[in-house]
Amino acid sequence: MRAEIISIGTELLMGELTDTNASWIAGRLPALGIQLQWVSIIGDDLPKLTEAFQQGWERSDIIFTTGGLGPTQDDLTREAVAAALGETPTVQDEEIENLRQWFRNRGQDMPAHNVKQAHLIPSAQFITNHNGTAPGWWAQRNGKHIICMPGPPGENRAMWADEIDAKLKDLIDTEVTITRNIKTLGLGEASVDEIMSEYFGHENPYLGIYSKADGIHLRIIARAADEAAAREMIAPVETAIHDRLAPYVWGYDDETPELSVGAALVEQGMTLATMESVSGGFLANTITEAPNSDRWYRGGNVAFTPNAMVAAGVSSDVLETHGVVSQQTANEMALVAQGSTAADFGIGLAGVLGPQEVEGHRPGTIHIAIAHGDDVREFPLRTPPRRLVIKRRSCNTALTELRKLITEVTS
Ligand code: ATP
Ligand code: MG
Repeated sequence: MRAEIISIGTELLMGELTDTNASWIAGRLPALGIQLQWVSIIGDDLPKLTEAFQQGWERSDIIFTTGGLGPTQDDLTREAVAAALGETPTVQDEEIENLRQWFRNRGQDMPAHNVKQAHLIPSAQFITNHNGTAPGWWAQRNGKHIICMPGPPGENRAMWADEIDAKLKDLIDTEVTITRNIKTLGLGEASVDEIMSEYFGHENPYLGIYSKADGIHLRIIARAADEAAAREMIAPVETAIHDRLAPYVWGYDDETPELSVGAALVEQGMTLATMESVSGGFLANTITEAPNSDRWYRGGNVAFTPNAMVAAGVSSDVLETHGVVSQQTANEMALVAQGSTAADFGIGLAGVLGPQEVEGHRPGTIHIAIAHGDDVREFPLRTPPRRLVIKRRSCNTALTELRKLITEVTS
C-alpha cells in the first residue's frame, strides 16, 4: 500500500513548530509493509487542504494526517476531507453526548464550539481519543483510506497504539513483503547502478542500491498475496544480479563478511590465520566478532613495526628491498601467518594509516595478500585517508576477497 502523510497547521509552516508527528508515523510504516511516498505540510487553509486531499486521494492508498481537529475556526481538517470526497458532514448525537461527558468528568460544560468535533461524513468513522476532546476520523471508500489524528503528540501516539495499529495490521494482512539483500564488493555504486539499470525504478519488485562500509548492497523487495508468489517475483532479479555481478557478490541478507567467511570455512573444515600492521588488530577483532570463530580462526599477529614483523618471521630482506608498505611485504605476512599456524589460508595486511606518509606513500595506501598453499593473491587498495575508514575498508576487503577465494578453490 502506498501512503502519504499530511501534517496540518500554519505553525508548522512558520517554523514555530517542528513536524515530529510525520517522522514518528513514518517510523511505524515499514514494519506494517506500508510504503510511504509523500510527506507534506499544509497550513490552516481550506482550499489548499482540500486540494492536498484530492491529490493524495489520487496517488495514495492511505493518507495519514495530524492536526486541525480542534474546535476552533482554524481547525479545518474535517471540512477539507469532506470537500475532497464531496460529502456533507452531519452532527452525530452520540458523539455530542461523549463530548458532554468528557467535559462533565472535568466539572465543566461543553462549549458550543465543540459541536464541530461531533460531525462526521458518511464514509468516515470516529477514532476514539482517550486523551483529548478531538476524536479522529477514519474515512474509507473504494479501498482507500484517510486517517485523521489530532495534533498533540501525546494524543496521536496513544490513538495509534489503542485504535489504529491493529486495524492497519488487519488491513495489510492480505499481503506479504519479502526482502532479499545481496552484498557486493569491488565495484563502485555508479558502476553497479549502471549494470543493473533496467531493474531500477519499478515499484514491485523494487530494487534499491545502498553504499555501505562493506560494499554496495542491492535490496530486492517484493509484495504479493503469499510468500511463494513474492519469492517468485524476486527470483528473476536475483538471477540477473548473479549473472552480471557474480565476481563481486560475497554475501546475502544479514551476513557480515566475517559470518560469511566463517560459514564457508566451517563447511570446508578449513582454517585461517592473519598478520596485520596498519589495521592494528581490527582484522582479528572483526573476525572474532563471529560466534564460534575459534572453530576456524587460528589467530593473528599485530605487527605494527618492521621489528615486530621480523620478530614474527617476515624476511628482513623483503622489508629492506621493497619497503614496509609494499605488496611483497603483505605477501610475506600472509605466508608467515599461514605457515606458522598451519592454517589453510593466511591474510597479510600492510599499508599506511597516517597522518604522515610512509616511504612516500600516502595514508590509505593498502596492500592485502591472501595465501593458500603456495598461491598468494594480491589485492592492492586505496581508501580515503581516515583511520577508521582505512581499517574498516581494508578488513572488509580482505574478508570478502577471502570469501570469494574459498568458493573458487573449493568448487
Ligand atoms: P487541538 O485540539 O489541541 O487544537 P488539533 O488536532 O487541532 O488539536 P493542532 O491545533 O494542529 O491540533 O495542534 C495542537 C498542538 O499539537 C500544537 O500546538 C503542537 O503542540 C502539536 N502538534 C500539532 N502538529 C504537530 C506536528 N506535526 N508535530 C509535532 N507536534 C504537533
Ligand atoms: Mg487546533
